[in-house]
Amino acid sequence: MSFENLKLIEPILQALQSEGYTSPTPIQAKSIPLILEKKDLLGCAQTGTGKTAAFAIPVLQLLNEEPQSSGQRKIRALVLTPTRELAIQISDSFAAYGKNLNLKQIVIFGGVSQSSQVNALRSGVDILIATPGRLLDLMSQGFVRLENIKLFVLDEADRMLDMGFINDVKKVIAKIPEKRQTLFFSATMPPEIQRLANTILVNPTKVEVTPVSSTAEKITQGLYYVDKPQKKHLLMHILKDQAILSALVFTRTKHGADKVVKDLNSAGVKAEAIHGNKSQNARQRALSNFKDGSIRVLVATDIAARGIDIDELSHVVNYELPNVPETYVHRIGRTGRAGLSGVAYSFCDAEERPYLKDINKLIGMSIPLMEENPFPALIEVAPPAEKKQQGRGGRPQGNGQGGRKPWQTRR
Ligand code: AMP
Repeated sequence: MSFENLKLIEPILQALQSEGYTSPTPIQAKSIPLILEKKDLLGCAQTGTGKTAAFAIPVLQLLNEEPQSSGQRKIRALVLTPTRELAIQISDSFAAYGKNLNLKQIVIFGGVSQSSQVNALRSGVDILIATPGRLLDLMSQGFVRLENIKLFVLDEADRMLDMGFINDVKKVIAKIPEKRQTLFFSATMPPEIQRLANTILVNPTKVEVTPVSSTAEKITQGLYYVDKPQKKHLLMHILKDQAILSALVFTRTKHGADKVVKDLNSAGVKAEAIHGNKSQNARQRALSNFKDGSIRVLVATDIAARGIDIDELSHVVNYELPNVPETYVHRIGRTGRAGLSGVAYSFCDAEERPYLKDINKLIGMSIPLMEENPFPALIEVAPPAEKKQQGRGGRPQGNGQGGRKPWQTRR
């Protein structure tokens, strides 16, 4: 399958070529023809599948085909996405794929002054990419009019729900014309999101790629049982491997992220943190330092990491396991993209065992145990009922590491 088969126009094909895209990803191959036929779409796909291009490319083509009304440009396509980082990335994607077209776009998000956004809106745009809060704000001040929307994209609907934005999303939807094409993307389909999809989509075609479990299978995963105070030593040990050019390390809390950065910096490893307490500028700076290789480790909380787009990330380290199992899949899905191999290590201390159990259940397998662990857990927790003693020669028993094979086969 090539992009040429998808009936894309030459200016877009050329842009994709200069992006280095040779063939469409599965979500692109399935979605682009449907969207070009002006169908509503329910896309179940997560970040890393190429879903942004799956909607951005056909949206650009459809807008390009439509005659522009005379006078100032009117917003004809709206993309709603939960985070600033995602909004910026989507905007970058539209700019890249649409660089040979005469379409204007703008991205608006909160946390920064609204004046430059307002100025850009005043000069007229075709495509608006926005986070819900700032959009509502600018709408209520009369700077954004949505009555000419022909195409509406709701990106990461499930995250909108997680982040408490769903009512804002509904308020925006109430203001856009009912007669429109809607593209609805969500990695998961909790009941509330299913209900929202049912109310805003008309005869949608469902396109599903990489269900949660199969994403996890593509990435090499490894588990370390380790006591909390030893985690920093284990991380340093792992980072001794110079083959790890870049690693994204996850913590559950902002404080935890800062602590890991401090430990790494004092051990001579260049690292920075991105989390909600950092300014937008500081987060973007850290991200670009990481992308250009001036820092080797980026430490992130889940909220801050949502949607950040890093190509060629070789390693993810779950320094702390997430308490929501789906988050594990989102985290590790940041590596192993675009055909590259990816490795995801997870540290599990005694208190995190219940989280691990939930993750294993979700991914339908037990994260394989790393044989080589210089900091095996010594703190014991009550083993699961099905535990069998399988001591291996030379390993201390009851250390949470040797003799823990039963966890590997538990389902
Ligand atoms: P997304 O799932 O939209 O976050 O995209 C994940 C990454 O894949 C982004 O860095 C895109 O630039 C990249 N990408 C998207 N489509 C393709 C493609 N057809 N070929 C190569 N890379 C792609």
